[in-house]
Amino acid sequence: MIQDFFRKDLSDFESYNAGKTDYKVRLNANESFDNLGEAVRREIGKVIENSIYNRYPDADALEVCELYSLYANVNKTNVMAGNGSDECIQIIAHTFLNTGEKVAMQSPDFSMYGLYTKVAGGIPIEFPLSDELELDVQGFISMANREKVKIVFLSNPNNPTGNIIKREDIISIIEGCKCIVVIDEAYFEFYGQSILDKIDTYDNLIVLRTCSKIGLAAIRIGFMITNNVLMLELKKVKPPYNVNAITQSITSVILKNPEIINNNVKNIIVERSYLWEKLSNIDGLRLYKAEANFILVEVPNAIKVKKRLIEESINVRSFSTGPLKNCLRITIGSRQENDSLLTNLI
Ligand code: PMP
Repeated sequence: MIQDFFRKDLSDFESYNAGKTDYKVRLNANESFDNLGEAVRREIGKVIENSIYNRYPDADALEVCELYSLYANVNKTNVMAGNGSDECIQIIAHTFLNTGEKVAMQSPDFSMYGLYTKVAGGIPIEFPLSDELELDVQGFISMANREKVKIVFLSNPNNPTGNIIKREDIISIIEGCKCIVVIDEAYFEFYGQSILDKIDTYDNLIVLRTCSKIGLAAIRIGFMITNNVLMLELKKVKPPYNVNAITQSITSVILKNPEIINNNVKNIIVERSYLWEKLSNIDGLRLYKAEANFILVEVPNAIKVKKRLIEESINVRSFSTGPLKNCLRITIGSRQENDSLLTNLI
């Protein structure tokens, strides 16, 4: 039987379902609500017109890495580009895990940490957050060491909770956990604090970043930043040419004009304050700390609210089971999108 060749440990896996995308108001995927402006799109058009299509792209996206190093204020040799930071997570798992080795993560946190751990033959160990969705830092460190985990993945701010781990706690985790520690700063721009300045202080730290939340989700570009020793190891696993030529060109245009990113982030933060204030005036909702480009809200009946929103062609992220089953994760939209959401929420 052909199934005899399949991996037994993947037998209960289901392929990732990104869901429908044709909703009028899309507040479910933590994208930026603003498309790039017309002038930038015109500039990108020219770059695409002049692209070289018959040759492979730069295998290591060197120009993009250098531009990102300027944006992030790190050394260019410490930056690797990925086909989204999803690919960086996958590369990390495949670089360090042998079959049966463990990886620690919070629950809830970004689902891809568990998925790529399993795909690499590893075992995810989930550490539940408190009822307030806070991390017991010392408990987490003890668990990671007791379980002899190889890697720790933590998103900061956390997706889906929006909560943060304070800098001193991140440092305790890096120092206390005897393993590779990955701090995923996908939502850095909306929070403003980073641990990037410590990549050369610690031999076990990797930081992840992405451009998906700041206006470039369509082109799939993410980064990992780490010290030279870990970088050499990660490069053994990175697929060559993993970032295509068009993505490289577009990313370069944007990173040469970082004010595009800064304006986008500023607009999202303004709308976050607006939505937060309006939501906090609605009785019966519980709002969690919002340091990213979304707000997690507990509602009296999530299934009912989600259904009503879908009927109005408004999509938000819901959670069918677990500690967030009564919560909705609402990506910050434009003023008009936020107002549509507010009108239909209650
Ligand atoms: N990390 C976190 C915490 C995320 O929320 C996301 C996107 N949802 C990613 C990584 C992946 O981002 P990318 O689009 O760069 O693959």
